[in-house]
Amino acid sequence: MKPRCIQPGNGTRMQYCLAMLALIWYVFKTTIPSNGFGNRFASMIIAGNWKMNLTRQEAVALTTAVIPAASDNLGIILFPPSILIDTVRDHLASGNGNGGEGIALGGQDSHAAVSGPHTGDIAAPMLREAGCTWVLLGHSERRADHGETSAMVAAKAVQAIAHDLAPMICVGESLNDRQSGRAGDVVEHQLRDSLTGVEPGACFAIAYEPIWAIGTGKTAGAGDIAQMHGHIRSVLTSINADHASVPILYGGSVKPGNAGDIFDQQHVDGALVGGASLDADQFLSIIRSARSRA
Ligand code: PEP
Repeated sequence: MKPRCIQPGNGTRMQYCLAMLALIWYVFKTTIPSNGFGNRFASMIIAGNWKMNLTRQEAVALTTAVIPAASDNLGIILFPPSILIDTVRDHLASGNGNGGEGIALGGQDSHAAVSGPHTGDIAAPMLREAGCTWVLLGHSERRADHGETSAMVAAKAVQAIAHDLAPMICVGESLNDRQSGRAGDVVEHQLRDSLTGVEPGACFAIAYEPIWAIGTGKTAGAGDIAQMHGHIRSVLTSINADHASVPILYGGSVKPGNAGDIFDQQHVDGALVGGASLDADQFLSIIRSARSRA
């Protein structure tokens, strides 16, 4: 049987229009990456990196406490250990009452390959299938513990984006880099190398995390944060004008007591929170701070 061609002008113009609309909708659905916030970036994003912490029971209790904080004007992302993703996802789905919007789920890493002999690793499509819309890439702990380079981060980012995950790419200088006045250059190189191959229009975020501030209780000064975030914004813009509005989060010992000052800085679009994200009261307080500025 010959395929039926739909041609305009032969009595099937309406069918043609409907087919075109369906095609446009399909292309839109399959090519626009999602980030769990309805394909737009919230004005502020607060992300909790649980690292290698929490039992299943503790994860459920923490998720239960965070669920009421979901709101339209703020993006919340939880990055649980991969073995707890299903549990947190199911818990969010049953208790959110918000259709899952407002609280997104992410993996803490994903491999540059889709599958294969990589014991202990996890692939981007696996995270996507588990309900994640985000993945953390290039966290300084992975760069240090697993020897990850910015080139490896870029390969992972490209694969993540190809599987509809928004990467949150972490960059940040060491104490030595800062003290020797090289912080700006180091971060610029990390950015350029970690974004190689990431297409304009891709959905991603940057987390600026000075290594010396992670888990140490030390935070960069407000002026240094503002300066570095401004620098990151101009590097992103120079890589591609389409990257100009990418959210830039600050990370490094963000606590209820310093969150407000940090969020008041220009080009700070939220926070990646480690230690304080494990404590419901502290995490909720940071969320409230962000919401009052969103
Ligand atoms: C982090 O792990 O990304 C982080 C910023 O940790 P902390 O808030 O504990 O410094």
